[in-house]
Amino acid sequence: MASANERREALKVLLMEARACTRCAELAATRTSVVFGAGNADADLMFVGEAPGANEDLQGLPFVGAAGKLLETLLGEIGLSRAEVFIANVLKCRPPGNRDPRPGEIESCTPYLVRQVELVSPRVICTLGNFATKLLRGDPAGISRVHGRAEVRTIGSHTTRLYPIHHPAAALYTPATLETLREDFRRLPGVLALPAAPPASGVVPVPEPESEPEVVPEPEPATQAPGGAVEQLGLF
Ligand code: URA
Repeated sequence: MASANERREALKVLLMEARACTRCAELAATRTSVVFGAGNADADLMFVGEAPGANEDLQGLPFVGAAGKLLETLLGEIGLSRAEVFIANVLKCRPPGNRDPRPGEIESCTPYLVRQVELVSPRVICTLGNFATKLLRGDPAGISRVHGRAEVRTIGSHTTRLYPIHHPAAALYTPATLETLREDFRRLPGVLALPAAPPASGVVPVPEPESEPEVVPEPEPATQAPGGAVEQLGLF
């Protein structure tokens, strides 16, 4: 396997490619930034959310709004910081009006995510909510059925443990979901302590997810000025 430094450099090249991406004409025309992902490029733990919201689009960074604050709080409760993990999304561009990602957009953007997984090579990937979970599990089962159970999956060439959990945005206004999310977070150190997932025995094809409504409320309105100066490269 390539060294951490080589993988980090390859991640930077991928970032530059993603920044110029026009595969989804509508998203390319309406975005402020490509929200590639940020964090430790050699992280043991990676989070995959759905798509950037308004704040993320303005700042160019994932999970910087209220859902991100909750994610940081939950990480802190298990002794981890945001700087130690890598955070990405299924889509790198904000869907206008925060609509759901469309199947064609997911298909176009998935190669970036697969490559990110291969390069970061995390031991554990927490999929946040339905979109990331269905995509990376390669199965249409919804998050309510599959959360909190780790399973070995091969994403591209990297075999890892997937640990699906609720999307923090869904937990913001629903105390029962927050409690479930917190319980699943408490089990995360145990999942991280499991032996590394065995090497790939076959590649799980990445299908188009079924469209299933998930209770993910609209994010709060954007509060920050466009963050062109924020340099994602400095963050991994
Ligand atoms: N919700 C997501 O799924 N991703 C973000 O980056 C922010 C909110």
